[in-house]
Amino acid sequence: MNAGWRALAEELARWRDAGRTASFWWRDDDAAAADAALARLVSLAARSGMPLALAVIPARAEPALFARLPPQVAVLQHGADHENRAGANDKKSEFPANEPPQSALARLAEARARLARLAGARALAVLAPPWNRIAPALVARLAGAGFRALSRYGARRAPFAAPGLREVNAHVDLVDWRGSRRFVGEARALGALVAHLAARRAGAAQADEPTGLLTHHAVHEPAAWAFVERLFDATREAGARWLDAAELFS
Ligand SMILES: [Zn+2]
Repeated sequence: MNAGWRALAEELARWRDAGRTASFWWRDDDAAAADAALARLVSLAARSGMPLALAVIPARAEPALFARLPPQVAVLQHGADHENRAGANDKKSEFPANEPPQSALARLAEARARLARLAGARALAVLAPPWNRIAPALVARLAGAGFRALSRYGARRAPFAAPGLREVNAHVDLVDWRGSRRFVGEARALGALVAHLAARRAGAAQADEPTGLLTHHAVHEPAAWAFVERLFDATREAGARWLDAAELFS
């Protein structure tokens, strides 16, 4: 076992020794096409039985996407159209501060209705904004627009992003977006996982926010999928729990 996997095993042992159950959840972003990459993701979810929160782009979603999802797959709303509306020098965002909230809310409502029609009861009223960014003024209005929860990236500061709006984030992105745009590699992925787990255990991060694995099925090469499968096995063998999105966001 190399150093990264050993560090994960040791951290999970510390949770067990403290009488605690390490918790995880799995979010996959950018679902839209019912293509071979999606089929691979769905097959892994089915084979592993792992609960999966699939963040779907409503405006781009093909109806066939929802046809063969295993029962434990929940659907989150990945924005509305995933178009970048930020200024030329700003970080990408579908929901930048320069867009009036009413306009964003109207787009979100239309997208949410389409997703509900396509995904049925699997669709949760949870917004995972593209690029994990959303203007604070809009966050404050999401609960009033019917959203129950928000999912961004990085350790949350509080259980609620705004009154009535739970927040559960992802913490370990398997893609090196700023560099190779490929798998970050086992060492970096495991380092981020162990760091979040250790921060939770020590009280430096919210202990009850499960550690979120973030995949992007459209761009993963075999090494990334092999990592995910090994992570599922290693965590399960160590007594950790992977939480279901419906439970997580209730
Ligand atoms: Zn995205």
